[in-house]
Amino acid sequence: MIVTLERVAGASTRAVRARARGDKIRLIGSLRRFADGPSPPFVRVPAIMKRASVILVSTITVIGALVSVTAQPQSPGVIRPRPAEGRDPELKPPTIREYKPRSTLVVPQHPVPKAKFPVIDLHGHPPTLSGPDVVQRVVEAMDPVGVRLMINANGTSGERLRQSLAAIKNSRYSDRMAMFTAINVRNLAPGDGVTIAQQLEADVKAGAVGLGEIMKDFGMRAEKRDGSRLTLDDPELDVVWDTAARLNIPVLIHVADPAEFFQPLDYTNERWLEQALYPGRRYQDRSRFPSFEGLMGERDRMIAKHPKTTFILAHLGWHANDLARLAAMFDKWPNVHGEVGAILYDLGRQPRMAHDFFVKYQDRILFGKDSFQPDEYPYYWRTFETADEYFDYYRDYHAFWKLYGMALPDAVLRKLYYGNALRLIPGLPRAGFPSED
Ligand SMILES: [Zn+2]
Repeated sequence: MIVTLERVAGASTRAVRARARGDKIRLIGSLRRFADGPSPPFVRVPAIMKRASVILVSTITVIGALVSVTAQPQSPGVIRPRPAEGRDPELKPPTIREYKPRSTLVVPQHPVPKAKFPVIDLHGHPPTLSGPDVVQRVVEAMDPVGVRLMINANGTSGERLRQSLAAIKNSRYSDRMAMFTAINVRNLAPGDGVTIAQQLEADVKAGAVGLGEIMKDFGMRAEKRDGSRLTLDDPELDVVWDTAARLNIPVLIHVADPAEFFQPLDYTNERWLEQALYPGRRYQDRSRFPSFEGLMGERDRMIAKHPKTTFILAHLGWHANDLARLAAMFDKWPNVHGEVGAILYDLGRQPRMAHDFFVKYQDRILFGKDSFQPDEYPYYWRTFETADEYFDYYRDYHAFWKLYGMALPDAVLRKLYYGNALRLIPGLPRAGFPSED
C-alpha cells in the first residue's frame, strides 16, 4: 500500500493528466495541481492551505488504496486497476493481425509429422475426382502424414458419383479412397422425400458407403417450394433418415456454424477476426438466419425421431467448446457420434477436459479433417498424441491462442483414427488396418 502511495504521489503530471479510468486518479491529479502546481495568477494559495491540501490528498489516497484492496470482482477480461492505469502506450499499438509475439518458453517439443496409427479421414474434401490421376495426386499427399484412407465427403451423387467411383477403381489406389453420397433438399415439395430416399438407395448400390457431408445450407438457407425455410426436422425427410438406417450407412451432417457467428459482432466476440474477414460467416441478421439454438433444437428433434440412424455430427456438432453439452447428447442418444474436423483449436485449449472426454466416449468420436490441406494434419497428431505445451495452431482467425497436447492412450487413438470408422461404415476397404483383436 505504501508503494502504491509513493507511486501515485510520484506520478508525473503528464501521467496524471492522461485519460484516467478511475475517479481516484483524476481527483488526486486535480488536488495535486491545486496544492503544488503553479497556481493560476488569480488564485493565491496560502501555505497553510497547501499543507492542508497535502494532508487531504494523502487521506484520499489512503482511502482510495483501501478501496482498491477490497475492490469488487472484475468482469471477465478486465484486470485490477494498476498504478499506471489510464496510461496510454507511448508506442503505436499493433493491430490484431500485426501482434505476433514469439514465445520465449523453452519446453520439450515433439512434432508428429505422421500419425502413430493408420488414419481414416472421414471428412475429406479432395479436388473433384475427375480421373485416376487426381486420385493418385491426393493419395500421394496422404502418405507422408499417415492418412491411409480418405472418404470423399464432397456431396457427390448420381452420375458424378459413378465417375468418381470409376476414377478410384481405375487408379492404383482403389483401397485408399471411398465415396459418400449426397441428397438435394432444395425446393422440397410434398412427396420429394420418397424420391430422395430412392436416389440414396441407388447411390449406395453404386458404391457409396455413407451419406454426407450434408452441408450447413440445410437449416440455414435451403427453402421449400412454398418459399419457407426447410427445417432440419421436416417430416418430409423422415423417410430419408429411415432409409439410411435400413441401408446401414452413417449420415455425416454439418449443422449451423460456430455459435459466435450468430452472436453480436463486437470486440468480445471470440471469432471477431474470422467474421471480419468473411462476410458470409455473419449470421446476426435474424430476418435472414435462424438462431444457433434454434438450429440445435431442430437438429435434436430430428435425431430424437430416428434412433436407428447413425448420425455423425461434423465438427463435434460445434460443441467442442462445451464438451459437457456434447456428452449429454452422447448419453441420451447412442446413435449419435462426432467428427473432429476444424475444431482442433477448442480441444487444444482444454487438453485435460478433452482427454477425459475422449477416453470416456472413445467409441463415439471419429477423425475427419475437412478442408484438404495436407500440411495441417500434423497439428492434429501432435494435439492427440503428445503432452506438448503451448504450441502453434495453423489459422489465426480460428484462434488467437496456442495448443496443448491431450496425450491420448494408444487404444483411444486407434479408435479415433480408424477403429470407429471401420465399425460404423461396413462398406469401407479394410486393407492396411490392423485386424481387430
Ligand atoms: Zn466439410
